[in-house]
Amino acid sequence: MEKRKLAFIGAGNMSRSLIAGLIQSGYPASAIMASNPSRGKLDQLANDFGIHTSQDNDQAAAWAEVIVLAVKPQMMAGMLSDISNVDSTLSGKLLISIAAGMSVARLTELSGQTRIIRTMPNTPSLVGLGMTGLYAGATVAQTDRDYAELLMQAVGKTLWVAAEDGINQVTAAAGSAPAYFFLFMQAMAEQAVRFGLNETDARLLVQQTALGAANMVAANPDVSLSELRAQVTSKGGTTAQAIEHFQAQGLEQLVADAMTAALLRARELE
Ligand code: NAP
Repeated sequence: MEKRKLAFIGAGNMSRSLIAGLIQSGYPASAIMASNPSRGKLDQLANDFGIHTSQDNDQAAAWAEVIVLAVKPQMMAGMLSDISNVDSTLSGKLLISIAAGMSVARLTELSGQTRIIRTMPNTPSLVGLGMTGLYAGATVAQTDRDYAELLMQAVGKTLWVAAEDGINQVTAAAGSAPAYFFLFMQAMAEQAVRFGLNETDARLLVQQTALGAANMVAANPDVSLSELRAQVTSKGGTTAQAIEHFQAQGLEQLVADAMTAALLRARELE
């Protein structure tokens, strides 16, 4: 990965995870700066990773070749109008946004820039197992795309979408999806407690089973999901009883409807 000078505007959870992943993969601390209004998170980043820090966004943006826009979406307009008022601070630089719901057109309007890559990470990025969608307009160079992809791979896996609405699809299928699994796991753990297990044991059973199932999917890329399920479902057995119940109650349609609701909401928020 090219070691371009990289500034994170907003030093919150997501920036911290990305910085940790980058440092771990050998990115030089001297080529990273973070800016944030309050000092506390900056001091922690400087102590933990040895990166440059600043309470002045303009200073960070002026120093950098690539700028990661990592503030909450509702802070983006104010932050970008402040920086882009300073002549040439952003001019011609690569901007990589990780903010949910901010279209490239909106980011261009706010920053006056067109060299923009939009990404949609999800919360497991915080533990290095993220899934990030990326989108860039046709004018963005391949070298910039490669750079952004490697940046997000510091916290997990990446997927490019060809059209910007693909980011909304990624939102429905991955961005919002950790919560779907949490809900399912919560329902399972609660039922295990009703059976008589204590909460700690119920959580362990659900957590380890989810981890194991996800790892089996990852370890068998050539086996379809329905085949993996069939392999663990003996006719007339206990698993078959549960699966028949899920399907009779319309689980697949329920999932489809829930994901469609998330997709429509993502489109609305843009
Ligand atoms: P966060 O922990 O709240 O971090 C945001 C940071 O921005 C805070 O440290 C905040 O500082 C700082 N900030 C506020 N106003 C600023 C300004 N004008 N200039 C510079 N910094 C400013 O949020 P996060 O979870 O890292 O999320 C960051 C972005 O990633 C969001 O746009 C979010 O939509 C996106 N995202 C996050 C996740 C995730 O897994 N966390 C997933 C998908 C997308 P103070 O706290 O000191 O005010």
